[in-house]
Amino acid sequence: MKNKKIIIEMKNVCRHYGKEHSLVKALDNVSLQVHEKSFLTISGPSGSGKSTLLNILGFLINPTEGEVFFEGEKMEYHDYDEMADFRLNKIGIVFQSFNLIPVLNAKENIQVPLMIKKDMNDNEKDKRADELLEAVGLSKQARQYPTQLSGGEKQRVAIARALVCNPSVILADEPTANLDTKNTEDILKMMRELNEKSDTAFIFSTHDSRVIKYAKEKVQLRDGKIV
Ligand code: ADP
Ligand code: MG
Repeated sequence: MKNKKIIIEMKNVCRHYGKEHSLVKALDNVSLQVHEKSFLTISGPSGSGKSTLLNILGFLINPTEGEVFFEGEKMEYHDYDEMADFRLNKIGIVFQSFNLIPVLNAKENIQVPLMIKKDMNDNEKDKRADELLEAVGLSKQARQYPTQLSGGEKQRVAIARALVCNPSVILADEPTANLDTKNTEDILKMMRELNEKSDTAFIFSTHDSRVIKYAKEKVQLRDGKIV
């Protein structure tokens, strides 16, 4: 780990919900470093703070206290433009329920971030989407719509979409929770291969032992604290 660049650093991060007697410490003084090429699982029972942690790293919610550094830069959670920019360029997010756009086919779904980013011409966008379809083993399904894809295939499209802008890190909140054992194993193996081939770090939450065994690094949460 020594010579690897630190991508994310959380320092004494707290996230509270509610007030006084109804105060919930969803994250309670969490400090964590994530290096490039990490393959890190955040595990813990339901309610332990996994989603809160990932949502803070994805700039979807802000910490109540503490600091988050991304590639050495302190994150200003009130700067919405900067956060949106980071989310588009540096971070890929994979959701438990895939969140594909139903009226777009697999290839078009993968291209959505490129449409927002507007820095490639049509040929380049076409080539990039084809590369990713191949990387996730879905070249033949390029024209299929989400309703014509299995759960495992939908999650592959979502992973390809998360990777399309070459992010430093992929955040995945229980990415295999809606998949059967075979698809869970296949998706994890594929993510590990993608992780080996690139510098992209993967951080994913799970409470599934089949998933935890693929991790290179492990963090466990209990009641909002790292144990
Ligand atoms: P996990 O993903 O591990 O199940 P969460 O991060 O979703 O855990 O939740 C951690 C704690 O914070 C839980 O007690 C949950 O009820 C609480 N919590 C999460 N989101 C909210 C919210 N928007 N408002 C109030 N409480 C919340
Ligand atoms: Mg959760």
